[in-house]
Amino acid sequence: MNPEDLVRPEVLAMSAYPVAAAEGMVKLDAMENPYPLPPAMRRELAEVLSRVDLNRYPDPGAGKLRELLARKMRVPQGMALLLGNGSDDLIQIVSLALARPGAAMMYPSPTFVMYGINAALSGMRALPVPLREDFSLDAGAFITRMRAERPALVFIAWPNNPTGALYPEDELVEIIRACEGLVVIDEAYHAFARKSFLPRLPEFPNLAVVRTLSKLGLAGIRLGYLAARPEWVEQFNKVRQVYNVNVLTQAAALFILERLEVLEEQAALIRAERSRLGAALSGLKGVTLFPSEANFFLMRVPDAARAYESLKRQGVLVKNLHPGLRQCLRVTVGTADENRILLTALREALS
Ligand code: PMP
Repeated sequence: MNPEDLVRPEVLAMSAYPVAAAEGMVKLDAMENPYPLPPAMRRELAEVLSRVDLNRYPDPGAGKLRELLARKMRVPQGMALLLGNGSDDLIQIVSLALARPGAAMMYPSPTFVMYGINAALSGMRALPVPLREDFSLDAGAFITRMRAERPALVFIAWPNNPTGALYPEDELVEIIRACEGLVVIDEAYHAFARKSFLPRLPEFPNLAVVRTLSKLGLAGIRLGYLAARPEWVEQFNKVRQVYNVNVLTQAAALFILERLEVLEEQAALIRAERSRLGAALSGLKGVTLFPSEANFFLMRVPDAARAYESLKRQGVLVKNLHPGLRQCLRVTVGTADENRILLTALREALS
């Protein structure tokens, strides 16, 4: 028996999402928060987790966690929350729910690759709309294409990954108003941009905001949340795997969200490091740096493959976006020490 005779052509055409081996490396490839939780908090958390009943299924609705998130993240009254095993899970849920036969998904491109992957997996027509050369959004062109194609679903990463750009808020409002489908604003990096559509949810019946705790410092526990009108969440809940947020994640998030200021202080440190790293990178010969409101930078270098390999040999792992983005590397903002190591290695790599 040959799996290739049975597996769907869309799946055969894909490659699995590549994750580079990172052991022993300065890991600046995945937009993680480089700071661990303070030791005392870790000990207390271990105590909390030791009391979790692993023999029991999780609370399927995760009611307590949703309540706490709604309070801590100031989700507007009247909006509902849907939790996911990371925001990857939420992107999949929304795509599956809206994938009527012939339906299209539209998004500015280049952007987070999971939108296109989920379009393919759910059977939606993927309609990437190119950003300008400088990776800014051409809202007029996007709206023209939207009027022609009438997508059921629009994804906009705000700030965008892998470019770091935060499109003007009023342009997104125009897109939301002109769209006959659901617009999902993906705010994975909101802690670094400090702008959000969450407070404006009640204005737009066709808007959902997706966020994650990953970039804030909890990538390992996998927790994302979607906020929208209850009518949307009611439908998405049917698509969600009933136990998609496990007991350890629920317990850890309940504990850590009560101490959210710890993560917010870390985000502030990362923002300060971003300014320093940005200034240093833009001063490097051969580097074209794109402005970023996220916890990473996109930069163009003369030979991205060569620079990537040289950095790797020097123990620094970044992301080479080849072939999607011509000669571009993406580097996560690390600790002050990690950024110093990166800069030294990059000078060597570009020499
Ligand atoms: N959205 C965007 C824009 C991202 O860059 C990422 C992670 N790279 C995600 C969503 C997924 O994050 P997670 O599944 O960890 O919540």
